[in-house]
Amino acid sequence: MSFISEKIRRIKLSPSVAARAIIAELREQGRRVIDLTIGEPDFSTPKHICDAAKAAMDRGETKYPAAQGTPALRKAARVRLLLDTGVDYPVGQIIVSTGAKQVLFNGLAATLNDGDEVIIPAPFWVSYPDMVLVNGGVPVPVTTTPATGYKLTPEALEAAITPRTKWLMMNAPSNPTGAVYGKEEWEALAAVLRRHPHVWLMTDDIYARLGFLDTAAVHPLQVAPDLAPRTLVVNGVSKAYAMTGWRIGYGAGPDELIKAMAILQSQSTSGASSISQAAALEALSGPQDCVVEFAKIFRARRDVAVAELSKTPGLTVVVPEGAFYVFPDCNALLGKKTPDGKVIATDNDLTNYFLRDAGVAVIDGHAYGAPGTFRLSFAASEDDIRAGCAGIRAACEKLS
Ligand code: PMP
Repeated sequence: MSFISEKIRRIKLSPSVAARAIIAELREQGRRVIDLTIGEPDFSTPKHICDAAKAAMDRGETKYPAAQGTPALRKAARVRLLLDTGVDYPVGQIIVSTGAKQVLFNGLAATLNDGDEVIIPAPFWVSYPDMVLVNGGVPVPVTTTPATGYKLTPEALEAAITPRTKWLMMNAPSNPTGAVYGKEEWEALAAVLRRHPHVWLMTDDIYARLGFLDTAAVHPLQVAPDLAPRTLVVNGVSKAYAMTGWRIGYGAGPDELIKAMAILQSQSTSGASSISQAAALEALSGPQDCVVEFAKIFRARRDVAVAELSKTPGLTVVVPEGAFYVFPDCNALLGKKTPDGKVIATDNDLTNYFLRDAGVAVIDGHAYGAPGTFRLSFAASEDDIRAGCAGIRAACEKLS
């Protein structure tokens, strides 16, 4: 019998952590590796945000903050949430946590009973199923395909719902596919949810400000505000403001849910760092040009990556409309042989081949619930993206 709990043994280390270890090992051996696995902006946090943190320390804001989040930050989040979702949440219905990740986790922990099902469109962010599993739930992945731009269809959603379904977890723009939903697409999904009032919606909007369409992002609550009483909106400052290390996220939803999440937080972390909350307050309420600038840079890099990968034999590329990942389908390459005669049987064989042959690190799609794909992050310099994609192309051209 292991001393470690059964619920912890259900989950595993994140594949990006595993990838980092292999990259470090190769670099130690003197190999040059272009790392396109990274899940965070490569920019520094803007100076005005860092200055706000320093000022908070100088003012002595170093004591326990309110466990649900400082009133000032929750007020700023309220303004942001109104702009992003069209819903005006009272500050009591807003919670600040240690990253969007903890908001998602607390939302699940506060609601799942053993055996409750959570619908997760696949490809998905690797953490969703594990967060569900550790909280006693059952992840129900629903496969989406390049043919629909990796978007969940209303038919597939309808077919996945059972009496045990508790949540539908949506993430747009998506990590890993960059899929973004338009007004009609949200309307169609909302129509299904209306037929099943026991199913709640969790929207992970962490990449919402990093969209590449010329039109503004559409939030499901703008299209279907009637779903707000059963929706948990999740967002944060990590990606849009290059603040991954500060660990601030926020959530908004019905009073009863947010209260339950606040109780959990009061008995676990006592809330997020006071200094980080001061920085996040400046991020949300200060100048916003940095976000626009970051999105512009990511879009230019997206274009570089997509142009290169689209020319690569055997890869099918769906153009990502947000976030900072491209997610090629590589099924056409499976079964082929490397120059030294090794068969590429899986996406993992292919990403290992890219690493060993071309010195380019990407993550196999298996981890995202989509075998036969891989994820390439363009949160890297344009030179690295160019060289990395060229290396992948040369490696694919050598397969026979
Ligand atoms: N959701 C998605 C889809 C993500 O990709 C990430 C970060 N990798 C997060 C949430 C976590 O964000 P945070 O840093 O705010 O915890």
